[in-house]
Amino acid sequence: MKFDTFSEYLARMETISGRLELASQLASLLRELSPSETPPALYMVQGQLYPPFVGAPMGMASRLLLRAMEKALEESGKDPALRSRLGDLLAESGDPGILAERLNMGTGMGKMGLGEIHAALLVIAKQAGSGSQEEKISRLADLFLSLSPLSARYLARFVMGRLRLGVGDSTIVDALARTLIETPLEDTVGWKAEMKAVRQKVEDAYNLCSDLGRVGEMLRKEGLVGLDHIRPSVGFPIRMALCERLGSGAEIIEKLGKAAVESKYDGFRCQIHCDGTSVRIFSRNLEETTGMFPELAREARALLGRRTAIFEGEALGYDAENDSYHPFQVTITRKRKHNILEKSEEIPLKCLVFDLLFLDGEAVMDQPFSERRRRLESLFPAHRRKLSEREVPPEHVFGASRLIVTSDPHEVDLFFDEVVEEGFEGIIAKRLDGVYTAGSRNFNWIKLKRSYKGALSDTVDLVLIGYYRGKGLRTKLGIGAVLGAVFDPATGEFLSIARIGSGLTEEKWKELREMLDELRTNGPLQGVRSGLVPDFWVVPKYVVTVLADELTRSPVHMAGRTEGEEEGYALRFPRMVSGPREDKGPEDATTVTEIKRLFDLQRQRGLRE
Ligand code: ATP
Repeated sequence: MKFDTFSEYLARMETISGRLELASQLASLLRELSPSETPPALYMVQGQLYPPFVGAPMGMASRLLLRAMEKALEESGKDPALRSRLGDLLAESGDPGILAERLNMGTGMGKMGLGEIHAALLVIAKQAGSGSQEEKISRLADLFLSLSPLSARYLARFVMGRLRLGVGDSTIVDALARTLIETPLEDTVGWKAEMKAVRQKVEDAYNLCSDLGRVGEMLRKEGLVGLDHIRPSVGFPIRMALCERLGSGAEIIEKLGKAAVESKYDGFRCQIHCDGTSVRIFSRNLEETTGMFPELAREARALLGRRTAIFEGEALGYDAENDSYHPFQVTITRKRKHNILEKSEEIPLKCLVFDLLFLDGEAVMDQPFSERRRRLESLFPAHRRKLSEREVPPEHVFGASRLIVTSDPHEVDLFFDEVVEEGFEGIIAKRLDGVYTAGSRNFNWIKLKRSYKGALSDTVDLVLIGYYRGKGLRTKLGIGAVLGAVFDPATGEFLSIARIGSGLTEEKWKELREMLDELRTNGPLQGVRSGLVPDFWVVPKYVVTVLADELTRSPVHMAGRTEGEEEGYALRFPRMVSGPREDKGPEDATTVTEIKRLFDLQRQRGLRE
């Protein structure tokens, strides 16, 4: 496909406000692509060059982009006065894409394909070292010269990391499913059921490799059966299994019967991939963190030797002097790009391993938990001593998580009290015959967390969708409150649930405003719904953790509001307990279903008390 044709699709997608329509437009684009063009197209509609877990976003500085434009204008013999005003023109339009389009730089002679542009951008992104800036500028200028003005619009936005079409993972999954099923004139029950089944298969494949490009290519090449070839493999993070919530040991045992119960540690979730020679570590939101945790990589290599494996654990800062684990606020200081070795000596990590997903070339995630645990304990030392003793042998970094197996609710509650006393977050109960359900939150794992003071028993993670100007004392900060939303995976929408105006220090509010300023949009993006209108809307990107006194029903919010209903859910007295979380993307925010469950838990608790 010519890049110009690809850009025409992007232009259509940009004007669409409904998610279903967006998925349908994306499906039309995908139908026109060859299998090998599918991955670059899917990465690029999300503003990426690779699957997100590879990292390396483009994010070129505006200075470089302007110099590339200047060079392209020079080579196409355009008005020199225009060249010297590029900086002002960019400041005026505020959008590098519109500026690039208006400059009309392309000669229209080159007809570069989507694949070629993607390959050229990869080269630009990889250039580093002396002379690399000039090389980047020159290559980018060449691209501008060979593209139509419309393509220049998207190229400029792309290289600056400002494409922002609002295409989330779930929209791509929908679109891929649609490429296999003709959309009928009217939605029939049969069509919806078929769509749901196909969509599930696409999502299952995505959950195993976290690479929509790879899934898309397989699907376009071999249809649905092609997805069977996507199996867990070392180097491709598996989307992580998550927990549901229940309110007591009795509820847990009623739900699971005899269950394994573990401490819920509060550190970094690490999914560790060993390929027989090297080790890679991925975080909760699938970013590679290998470089940050050298001691984990070193010991994993030593323990596993030439074996291949994927396992998960929680890494915690360890306080050798007091033989205890550090709280999260201390552990988090290990997340850094510089002075890694010094910091690892100051705050060494221990990793409590809690699941095994792949071993010696075989996926074990479909085996029952009890079997996975048996194999895990053969790889890592397991400690069944008293709680006050450490769980990882002193000379090691890895150890199996602490676990009891019981069908007695009272024992669950006692274990909960003990671990909370030890300073841990609570417990996670696991269904003994449960498989590892990649990318899904269900009752195979159930968390029970330390209760907070308020009536709401857990924090929630909200995506920021807008913010308000500051008033009074906050005027000088430029921000007074933010508008937070929950995610609805069924529709891909972000639905408002709270206006949050407290919890951060002045400094942190200022930092937050600067981060949000980068994301300002004219009006809500498609899929963002709120009854409140903030002073500024932003691209849903940052997730913050929020504590509140209570969940209530409210006519101003959209979370959980079904058709015909006038009230959604709202948080009472919300306050932020963290700034933007690096370990969560917008689609990892608390979901509407979780909010409904929390509301039910709160009501039941109210009845009990
Ligand atoms: P939270 O914000 O409460 O940490 P979350 O949305 O990241 O939650 P949950 O499904 O609530 O995820 O809880 C699972 C998290 O708990 C995992 O991501 C993992 O990091 C952590 N964890 C700590 N101990 C364990 C354990 N023994 N087994 C599984 N997960 C554990």
